[in-house]
Amino acid sequence: MDFSLEPEQEEFRKIVRAFAEEVVAPRAEAMDRAEELDEDVLDQMAGMGLFGLPFPERYGGMGADYLTLCLAVEELARVDSSVAITLEAAVSLGAMPIYRFGSERQRERWLPPLARGERLGAFGLTEAGGGSDAGALRTRARLEGDEWVIDGGKAFITNAGLARSGLVTLAAVTGERADGRAEVSNVVVPAGTPGYRVGRRYSKVGWHASDTRELIFEGCRVPAENLLGEQGAGLANFLRTLEEGRVAIAALGTGLCQGCVDECVKYARERHAFGQPIAMFQAVAFKIADMELRAHTARLAWQQAAVKLMGGGPFGKEAAIAKLYASEAAVTCAREAVQVHGGYGYINEFPVARFYRDAKILEIGEGTSEVQRMLIARELGLR
Ligand SMILES: Cc1cc2nc3c(=O)[nH]c(=O)nc-3n(C[C@H](O)[C@H](O)[C@H](O)COP(=O)(O)OP(=O)(O)OC[C@H]3O[C@@H](n4cnc5c(N)ncnc54)[C@H](O)[C@@H]3O)c2cc1C
Repeated sequence: MDFSLEPEQEEFRKIVRAFAEEVVAPRAEAMDRAEELDEDVLDQMAGMGLFGLPFPERYGGMGADYLTLCLAVEELARVDSSVAITLEAAVSLGAMPIYRFGSERQRERWLPPLARGERLGAFGLTEAGGGSDAGALRTRARLEGDEWVIDGGKAFITNAGLARSGLVTLAAVTGERADGRAEVSNVVVPAGTPGYRVGRRYSKVGWHASDTRELIFEGCRVPAENLLGEQGAGLANFLRTLEEGRVAIAALGTGLCQGCVDECVKYARERHAFGQPIAMFQAVAFKIADMELRAHTARLAWQQAAVKLMGGGPFGKEAAIAKLYASEAAVTCAREAVQVHGGYGYINEFPVARFYRDAKILEIGEGTSEVQRMLIARELGLR
């Protein structure tokens, strides 16, 4: 058993860390305030090949692996969760279904611009009526001649409203199964298709610079060949996509925990009270030690889940454990980091204030903490 990264993975981590510290961190507060990512940041990420990390070179990717993608997500989240989630959602939710479930023709057509970061993909599962209950979809796609006609709507969709948004992959009801339940399939809808409208940006508690929108489909027509994967396999394929995505979300939570450590170590050495740096108070130092403990444990959890995922066997329990642990750890670390900063922790120009707002969604997106506990309990044969 060896817990160390390969030398090239270590090297890559350093490159992304330098980019995060030198390019992203100085702009993070302004992007948060503007509620928008700088196009230039996305261009630089694209130039580094981040959007194509786990995809083969023949599709415009970097030919690396899922663990390497998660390393990038962790390093970016250390300074800015909005940038990290933009990458995570574009790759593991937006492009991955096309890579995993698409035909060779579909991969050749849609993957290269996504892998090169010229376009970003979005993942359209959640609807206003329910996210955890993914089977209760209302959006319908019916085959009319050689076209799918889509009617319905999606809620809380990441990366669909950016200048470079290229497509959304939808889960839609396409019929009824023999057992009377809805047949769900995945259909690719390119940006700009008539009948597909992107609603306004939500005003969110955190992840301000990440794009989250409602999507509306009214008589939206796409060619029959835009069906992704087998007809009727749409729910299973999307749930598998989410399972994989949880590993990357756990890496994102780990990065946020580590960012809290970084900021608190700096601040606790500089800030004086009662004639000494606050780091000298055990009550403060122990809070920071506990943050490091959480970051370290969360990292072990996501890395183990990533190794299992890449090994090709079942990894659902490990992914749920990593996502649940890292997201709850991130919320706790962010709360404690604000506490270590006192009043300044409540002022938006301090990174920990942003971390505090950004952390909470990790317990909700890509399966709530309750859903993760349900999945773990099910693995234990309890349900
Ligand atoms: C910023 C942001 C970005 C997002 N990006 C995307 C995206 O790109 N694509 C996408 O498809 N979705 C996206 N989502 C949606 C997200 O995945 C859902 O919000 C999430 O899955 C929860 O669904 P819900 O909001 O409908 O909550 P609900 O499912 O209504 O849950 C409400 C509460 O009930 C609990 N609950 C529900 N069912 C059970 C149960 N059986 N047992 C116990 N407790 C239960 C939940 O845990 C939760 O506490 C995003 C959401 C946000 C806020």
